[in-house]
Amino acid sequence: MKEKNCSGKLLENYLNSFSHIYIEKEILGHEVTEQILKRLPKAQRVLINNYRDIFNRPRQNYIIQKRSQKLILAKKKFDFIYPGSGLCENFGEEHFYYSSSIMNCFYECEYCYLQGMYPSGNIVIFVNLEDYFSAVDELTRDKKIYLCLSYESDLLAFENLTGFTGRWIHYARNNANVLVEIRTKSANFNAVADKEIPRNVIFAWTLSPQEVIQNYEAGAPSLEARLNSIRQAIAKGLKVRLSLEPLIMIDDLETVYKNFIHSIFAVIPPEGIRDVNIGVFRMSREHMKRISKLKKNSKVFAYEMNCVDGNVSYKQEREMKQIVYNEVIKYLEKDKVY
Ligand code: SF4
Repeated sequence: MKEKNCSGKLLENYLNSFSHIYIEKEILGHEVTEQILKRLPKAQRVLINNYRDIFNRPRQNYIIQKRSQKLILAKKKFDFIYPGSGLCENFGEEHFYYSSSIMNCFYECEYCYLQGMYPSGNIVIFVNLEDYFSAVDELTRDKKIYLCLSYESDLLAFENLTGFTGRWIHYARNNANVLVEIRTKSANFNAVADKEIPRNVIFAWTLSPQEVIQNYEAGAPSLEARLNSIRQAIAKGLKVRLSLEPLIMIDDLETVYKNFIHSIFAVIPPEGIRDVNIGVFRMSREHMKRISKLKKNSKVFAYEMNCVDGNVSYKQEREMKQIVYNEVIKYLEKDKVY
């Protein structure tokens, strides 16, 4: 599969491949709905009452649907913000939350936890971002929060369609009590490069060795394309986060990951990095079972795993993390590495 986001043309082709757009009647006329429909004039439009009627249908096949995704435009009615999961790094932030305005993603990472979580591989975009902002207003009335926006999709990859990243940047400029993280595998920083990005917006790039990208991150931009996007962000004055997660077991692991870290710091100046988090692939045992059912013989689970407190990871989890940590601290102060 070709990467979908290294050039406007490939992304454009992907967007034009939506054969159908399901639209909740209630949000016809909403400005985001109209903007998206205008962008995708060829897709057949189907009016629906509630996105769940399509997205939550029984007996759907996530994997098959991912190959020919449909787009669903909907209105989020409740649960705009969730408490952060204990499985995710909180970077020492006390009040950790996440929010999800898009469900599913157009990359096809072999290890993606969404495949065991959602009943459908189709993409849902909740167009009413203004209601998310109201929920954050409410939550930040008396405290500072750390809010991750791009855990259940890749917000920046969809930017040319939704403009959501730009709107969150604008929102954060006017709310000093929110620290926003936008995590991405895309090479699409260009889409927001003209914005004035405040310090309470963190762009976080998930990076993997090219060998892992080739084998486990179908459709996602190459390491080189992601690094170019990071350089562009740093050149604009941003301090970026690097997320070296999930570390994936691979032949000749030590050499592959050492070369990977070296290739990052060969082109990214350490002073442009806010922090780095390192995490080995892991997920709950229940989740792993669901994914294994969907994907028989998944490469991710081909190595020996351990289960601790209901969470599964590689047997060599500690060693893997140590190898990468030891390499990163050759370039970066320890207090920046999580
Ligand atoms: S980029 Fe993230 S959300 Fe998208 S497929 Fe990969 S792991 Fe899943």
